[in-house]
Amino acid sequence: MTLTKTSSMVEWLEANESKVYGNFIDGEWVDSVSGKTISIFNAAKNNQLLASFQDSNESDVNQAVEAAHEAFKNWSKMPGPDRGALLYRFADLLEQNVDELAYMLSAEQGKTLAESKGEVFRAAKEARFCAGEAFRIEGNTLPGERRNVWSSTIRKPLGVVAAIAPWNFPVVTPIRKIAPALAYGCTVVYKPASVTPWTSVRLMELLEEAGVPKGVVNLVVGSGSKVGDPLVNHPLVKGISFTGSSDLGIQINQIAAGRLAKTQLELGGKNPAVVLDYQDATSVAKQIVSAAFACSGQRCTSISRVIVVKEKKEELTEALLQELKNIKVGPAWEQVTMGPLVNKGHLNSVQDYLKVGIAEGARLRYGGEILTEGEFSEGAYMNPALLDLVTPDMRIAKEEIFGPVLCVIEVENKEEALEVANNVEYGLAASIFSNQLPDAFHFANEVEAGMIHINHGTASAAHMPFGGVKQSGAGAYSIGRSNADFFTETKVVYFEY
Ligand code: NDP
Repeated sequence: MTLTKTSSMVEWLEANESKVYGNFIDGEWVDSVSGKTISIFNAAKNNQLLASFQDSNESDVNQAVEAAHEAFKNWSKMPGPDRGALLYRFADLLEQNVDELAYMLSAEQGKTLAESKGEVFRAAKEARFCAGEAFRIEGNTLPGERRNVWSSTIRKPLGVVAAIAPWNFPVVTPIRKIAPALAYGCTVVYKPASVTPWTSVRLMELLEEAGVPKGVVNLVVGSGSKVGDPLVNHPLVKGISFTGSSDLGIQINQIAAGRLAKTQLELGGKNPAVVLDYQDATSVAKQIVSAAFACSGQRCTSISRVIVVKEKKEELTEALLQELKNIKVGPAWEQVTMGPLVNKGHLNSVQDYLKVGIAEGARLRYGGEILTEGEFSEGAYMNPALLDLVTPDMRIAKEEIFGPVLCVIEVENKEEALEVANNVEYGLAASIFSNQLPDAFHFANEVEAGMIHINHGTASAAHMPFGGVKQSGAGAYSIGRSNADFFTETKVVYFEY
């Protein structure tokens, strides 16, 4: 395979002088009281040191929460349109800095440059949507139940919000939490995943450059146990917006419930693409493969199960195999369509799932092998995998693999397809491919998922609610207008005149 280097990223990384970054607390870059740091390395070239960060602890968290609490007093009173104006400026800055942010993002996470740029543009779009929302924080006014009494509701900002993000989308996930928080008048303490804190530093700098006052957004880097845990337990934190694994989401929900703090939980998925009928197998396969293997399958909304009626199974599988052959694996700075996995530990976990699936009777139809030759030895690379003869009771059909593995499950008819689609603990996104409108609408109505895509892969939009049911999430959906229900509290006002 001939690969063309996108040399500017390589040059940029070589010129990058690895720095030690502080936490961003109350508008200042400060070292942790721990005196310790953690380092991160290029996901596609593991011996290249990118930067070091604070290995923070509870004292750092306390300082950040207190700064956010103090900043809330003014920020929450700033008129919404003024807050929105800062967010518009911030969105512009994201776009103006897209190349640098994309280099950092691809380096720390591993995704392709095209994916990284797309993520930065998407973050800018979501920030702009939130900027607009800051102009229209609505309440309801209803006729009074009693004569001469006016009754209405108003929304007030919740307070200090903890934003906790995983490693798969280190730019858009924090912005998906920080932008609505700012729009609705909340202040934030943000904890990125320990393996991807680099872009977060740049995000803080751009928020500051946009004019966001000190203390309004704070960054504390460190582990889940030393930073995440005290953040979730802090009595001044009124809400926790968390994206990550379902087990941890449930644990965080239990802790928050103990003091009636609100939660917004975006958790795992085991997303089905149900295929009943189509005119063109290739176009369906393109949609499915793109939704299954983007970001090396490390997306909570990745399609991981193709549930196909038996008369279409062979034709569709052939079309999927053709599409898989077009995937080029390699480092972000080359002309590739799939980067490495985030690290070798995660690669091992995905490989274990492949072994379990094959041991349970699934057939490996394509890929799956670890790539170790030449530059591949420097990252966690594997070829995308397709398994068929998968049955709904297998672990690979039920558990989130979070990697480039697609399972094909054959069913007798549309009724069984729906039953299999719902036969998992998750309920995040689901696709259906059908030419029959009644079948498509029946599926949309009956499938247990938060986001349903008809004749469409599992790609969401920057202005529509994003979230899941069952073990895939709880609390108000993020993105879109539903965010108001998490980031604000409602007051009811009666006025007699
Ligand atoms: P986790 O759920 O373990 O971590 C997500 C975030 O929570 C990270 O910032 C993590 O910090 C933090 N955290 C860890 N422990 C605590 C704690 N006790 N209190 C508060 N915060 C904490 O996800 P991982 O990144 O480790 O991935 C594990 C699995 O989760 C994946 O294999 C996948 O199945 C799923 N996942 C789902 C995602 C989604 O978008 N739905 C995204 C990523 C993962 P730290 O990084 O320091 O551990």
